[in-house]
Amino acid sequence: MRVLVAGGAGYIGAHMVRCLAENGHAVTVFDNLSSGHEEAVRWGRLVVGDVLDRSALDAVLRGDHYDAVMHFCARSLVGESMLQPLAYYRNNVGGTLTLLEAMRAAGVEHIVFSSSAAIFGQPLSECIDEGHPLAPINPYGASKWMCEQMIEDAVRAFGLRAVALRYFNAAGADPQGRLGESHRPETHLIPNMLRAAREQGEPLQIFGDDYPTGDGTCIRDYVHVDDLAEAHLAALQLMQRKPGMHRFNLGNGTGFSVREVIAAGERVSGQKVRYTVAARRDGDPAVLVAASRHAREILGWKPFYADIEGIIETAWRWHCAPRY
Ligand code: UDP
Repeated sequence: MRVLVAGGAGYIGAHMVRCLAENGHAVTVFDNLSSGHEEAVRWGRLVVGDVLDRSALDAVLRGDHYDAVMHFCARSLVGESMLQPLAYYRNNVGGTLTLLEAMRAAGVEHIVFSSSAAIFGQPLSECIDEGHPLAPINPYGASKWMCEQMIEDAVRAFGLRAVALRYFNAAGADPQGRLGESHRPETHLIPNMLRAAREQGEPLQIFGDDYPTGDGTCIRDYVHVDDLAEAHLAALQLMQRKPGMHRFNLGNGTGFSVREVIAAGERVSGQKVRYTVAARRDGDPAVLVAASRHAREILGWKPFYADIEGIIETAWRWHCAPRY
């Protein structure tokens, strides 16, 4: 297939591009390089452009016939979204709207959308399945929910086919060390922890140890970025068979607290992780763990990286020798 990967220079998008190319698909990356890396685009053609720029999207979509779009472009930091909500709505909701309009004009009929566990808000059950109520508690999650609603309406009205994949916590790196997680500034737990293990300087901050969890720190479900990419491949196939809109929660189904992640990081790196306990970060729910049965049954998806140490090991390899 010919696939346009919007946001393909970013962390998850770049792993997706590699996975598509390795599976014989032709890939064009559309990315404004605001947080993505040109060096990460090694398996496809790069078009630099902004998803809010309709004419740039029209130009790329008319230049070729695309079978599908994968949409990774978004601002994705919970804490930042609490401080800059309008920027999140403009970018994430406005960007998705513009992309949907451009796809309709160009006759592109399939989209895989990067959604998030943040659409669920405070979980009402131990594991979150697709039937869980949607009640985001931060603008990031709200923006992703709004995008899902727009996509659903477009599916109903125009016969678009769509899959929304709700990622829990994407983590890890290409096992061969060609791609990895590199945000500036870095806000995510695993890269920050590995930096604190490897370098002197600022210790890791644990954001809150007074949550109602076993050790007081937040629990998350970490899922390897290559496993997420595999789910997208399966989503492409599903859309060929089945019209409509499909939604899947993607996680390993096991939660790890911040302190457990630190302990695993110390075992993998053989280094002590220096940390301090800081205040809670606004917008963080205490626990987010996926029930991914639906993805297993319908997509046939089974994460290859089932344990946290295996995931951190790939991240550590990248962290010791980053390419960008
Ligand atoms: N976290 C932390 N210190 C950090 C970064 C994150 O304690 O430097 C915590 C954060 O509060 C959350 C978990 O680690 O409970 C995962 O956060 P991350 O930013 O990696 O992903 P998110 O859950 O926001 O998508």
